[in-house]
Amino acid sequence: MKKEKFLVVANWKANPDTLRLAKVNLTAIKKIASKNKNTEIVICPPVIFLESLKTLARPIALGSQDIFTEPSGAFTGEIGYEALRETKIKYVIIGHSERRQFGENDIDVSRKIRIALSLGITPILCVGEKERDANLEYLSFIKSQLQMAFKDVPKSSVHKMVLAYEPVWAIGSLAKRDAKPTEIEEAVIFIKRVIGDIYNTKSVPPLKIIYGGSVNQNNASDIISVAKIDGFLVGRASLTPKVFGEIISIVNNFQ
Ligand code: PEP
Repeated sequence: MKKEKFLVVANWKANPDTLRLAKVNLTAIKKIASKNKNTEIVICPPVIFLESLKTLARPIALGSQDIFTEPSGAFTGEIGYEALRETKIKYVIIGHSERRQFGENDIDVSRKIRIALSLGITPILCVGEKERDANLEYLSFIKSQLQMAFKDVPKSSVHKMVLAYEPVWAIGSLAKRDAKPTEIEEAVIFIKRVIGDIYNTKSVPPLKIIYGGSVNQNNASDIISVAKIDGFLVGRASLTPKVFGEIISIVNNFQ
């Protein structure tokens, strides 16, 4: 059986500030990709750049950082999902902590997953606790996020999704600290168990589980070897092609 590729997703957030720089960075990442063929690379730029990057990006996949819950209509400032679909994105990040912080709730997340799957776009579902507490309350938090997110996903569609474990306390420039590889490993085991329980099966439907939270060229190797994940979701470190390239080659050489 063909081995599944590892996955490295770049979440550029609201960066860079010009299309020109987005093209420069994407061109550099394409060069890196051509030397790391066992790893699938996904770039999620600001949505306004998607259309202009779609030809240049090939064979790298593009993703959106969000998807709206309506196809089109009177929703000032939003992008209907039918218009988004025109950009031919292959992936969409859903439930990122920064969107949840702006008010997105578990019901929105569940609807967005359903929409993405119906459009043939792979959802990259983000879950993760805000804090780690000694009483292990954070596990219930993750469990409830998972139960809500998978509520309307039939077992036969689970393999069409990617799950990103992103502990909020370890993400971004305000991160308290890096998550330890063993902490990530434990959370991933827990996540697999919860998904198994949701579908009433011991063998979890085969979805990719990736990790995001201050991943860089110095910690990527330890995390991937201990935590047995299928790749990374990378924020800040994806904005510098050289650094992002080092992460990609660590992943590529790991398999
Ligand atoms: C993120 O925001 O999804 C993320 C992983 O960011 P960073 O890598 O900068 O912590």
